[in-house]
Amino acid sequence: MNFIPYGRQNITKEDINAVVEVLESDFLTQGPKVPNFEEAIKTQCNVKFAFAMNSATSALHAACLALGVGKGDLVWTTPITFVASANCALYCGASIDFVDIDPKTYNLSTQALKDKLQTAKVKGQLPKVVIPVHLCGQPCDMEGIYELSKEYDFSVIEDASHAIGGKYKDQPIGNCQYSDITIFSFHPVKIITTAEGGVATTNSEDLAQKLDLLRSHGITRDPELMTHEPDGPWYYQQVDLGFNYRMTELQAALGSSQIKRLNDINESRHRIADRYNHKLANLSVIVPYQISEGHSGLHLYVIRLKLDEIKATHLDVFNSLRASNIGVNLHYIPVHLQPYYQNNFGFKMGDFPQAEQYYKEAISLPLYPDLTEEQQDYIVETLQGILKDG
Ligand SMILES: *Cc1c(COP(=O)(O)O)cnc(C)c1O
Repeated sequence: MNFIPYGRQNITKEDINAVVEVLESDFLTQGPKVPNFEEAIKTQCNVKFAFAMNSATSALHAACLALGVGKGDLVWTTPITFVASANCALYCGASIDFVDIDPKTYNLSTQALKDKLQTAKVKGQLPKVVIPVHLCGQPCDMEGIYELSKEYDFSVIEDASHAIGGKYKDQPIGNCQYSDITIFSFHPVKIITTAEGGVATTNSEDLAQKLDLLRSHGITRDPELMTHEPDGPWYYQQVDLGFNYRMTELQAALGSSQIKRLNDINESRHRIADRYNHKLANLSVIVPYQISEGHSGLHLYVIRLKLDEIKATHLDVFNSLRASNIGVNLHYIPVHLQPYYQNNFGFKMGDFPQAEQYYKEAISLPLYPDLTEEQQDYIVETLQGILKDG
């Protein structure tokens, strides 16, 4: 069997043509394709504003800045995420802390958040922003988090890097009903891709204005945002300190072409996941728990090993699968255990027990639209053999 990666882009002739068309056009950047892609995102998410950027990491940084995160502020997120969900706070000079996960959904636990907020209030150390991450595409308990955000006065950024195409309470993830800003990633392993790229959505006019400025040097050409009448037709003003976080026309054209297939992609991911659920039912693994009030974007399919039922260790199972050309992965190493976080902020083993337990048992199985049934059967049979003999 050829190597099977854990995730992989799906590229059609149409995608290729869309990118080539841009190469032959007048604009490689700052043309019509980015606004077109943003329109498609707004329609998909049923949201007022969307700002395409060169990565989700950039979008997370801009989102924190737009919400006023700075020195002396606290941002909280989950330890089971990609480091970018936490790094964005540090870019702004803020401090970071984590909220342990729910042992069933692996998302930030609302109960743990509630408990931590109560303690933080007493100490006068409430967070300015909380960043729930929809792990594997499964939405967090956004209504619960939203209620706490009103009670304790913090803002919410949804890191929905795994979740485009998913739904929460029958509404599309990204509509910002329970958050200030939502972020998506279009890295090639994610659900749809722009090679590198991300987007921030919001319903707030004020945040929209800030996000738009921050992704392009803090520069405006809108006379209404200027301190005086334009000097002439060449004129622009820098009114904030922004960055060059813009998405190119090539990326946006690819994104617009990809998003047309979002429903199909989501369906095939669910079809493959359902097939895994069925075939893994009798093995010593926990298959992903799905909440009833959500429809997952299903970026990842994570199983947990029931280590007390098997002889093999987590590492054994991992190594054997990799040795069989199955590109399993682990999402994620708890962020608080990264050396940078331990050395600079004093986090240590034992701080977030549910996240640490998850890390000892989790394995992401390959999941992407072009995964064949033959490949999937091979993965399941190989895993079955390892769990039996190990
Ligand atoms: C991939 C990912 C990011 C970063 O996305 P980029 O587009 O690669 O910057 C952030 N958060 C999570 C949860 C991710 O999975």
